Amino acid sequence: MRISYSALETYRNCPLKYKYQNIDKIKEPKSKEAVFGTIIHSALKFAHTPGILSPTLEQTLDYFSRNWNSDVFEVEAEERAAFSQGVEMIRKYYEKNNIAATNIVDLESRFAIDLEGNVISGIIDRIDKTDDGYEIIDYKTAKKMPSQEYVDNNLQLSVYLKAFLVRYPEEAKNLEKIKVSLYFLKHGVKLTASRNLQQLQKIDEEFLEVIKNIEERKFDPNITPLCDWCGYQKLCPMWRHKFKNERKIDTEDVNQMIGEYIVAKEESKSLRYKIAALQEKVSQYMDQEGVERVFSENGIIVRTLRSTYKYDEKKIREILAPLGQWENVVKIDAIALKKIIPALPVSIRNEIDLAREISKQSSSFSIKKQNETEEE
Ligand code: SF4
Repeated sequence: MRISYSALETYRNCPLKYKYQNIDKIKEPKSKEAVFGTIIHSALKFAHTPGILSPTLEQTLDYFSRNWNSDVFEVEAEERAAFSQGVEMIRKYYEKNNIAATNIVDLESRFAIDLEGNVISGIIDRIDKTDDGYEIIDYKTAKKMPSQEYVDNNLQLSVYLKAFLVRYPEEAKNLEKIKVSLYFLKHGVKLTASRNLQQLQKIDEEFLEVIKNIEERKFDPNITPLCDWCGYQKLCPMWRHKFKNERKIDTEDVNQMIGEYIVAKEESKSLRYKIAALQEKVSQYMDQEGVERVFSENGIIVRTLRSTYKYDEKKIREILAPLGQWENVVKIDAIALKKIIPALPVSIRNEIDLAREISKQSSSFSIKKQNETEEE
């Protein structure tokens, strides 16, 4: 399979989005954020373009302004804010970096790495030569500044380093001198980390698992905050209904049914609390009176003591195994299994996956507030 790093990343975030984008080839409308990111990236490429003299701040701002794309902004105030933010990012970048002194090896460097017959391709924003090694840099225009831990474990940087080593294999022995960095332009902060060989090997396993899932056509939707930026919401079964007014599909009856269900669920919740509180009171009264049944005009309440038992597994096995009955009572604890799976090697995870089959399927409903995107 030939796949770009960004497509792999898309699959890891949401398999269904990957399908829309890469299998069904449905064009995603360009988001303002994506267009903004592209312009900033190309302005920084311009700033670092090799020449006798490096472009000045004014020249880079002029480049940014000439390449600005108004088409994706519907609201003028929004466009103005984005433009000023871009100017601010470039200004900050010039303030914190001596452009002329940067020792660039490559800009927007294309790569293709082989992974057991699959090819993963991508583009590295920037590779610098440092005093004693190299630095691989990726620019980010995100508003949120992540933690150092995020950069320490960032998969994208690991892939870029792997790609770098394909190009400069002799540098594998100087791994500690190769830095990988995410440059957060809005904050003017660069977070840097390094990688060891084990970390690099681990990404192979992760990617092979993604490729296997794609080949097995596992394309379930995954609701995350990233849905807010997904251009496929109007197609996606998790969101499509939100646009019902545009599609004029629902009648009054359907709207009423949905509303009634939500209200009934809320009522049942408060009823549950009420029942628990009353049960506690009745129980106290029974204790006080020393009775196990109480009478009223509406009926009789009976208190029954229920006990749950725990068996000594070793002893039960000794008793049942000789009778050939042990297998009949042992059940896999699916919850406990689910907990340990993430820590197991990928090959074992795959074996467990193959040993799994659906025994029963049922639907359950949960209610979320409008605009709530994170999974419960
Ligand atoms: S809206 Fe969310 S769940 Fe649906 S395809 Fe997009 S990212 Fe996936």
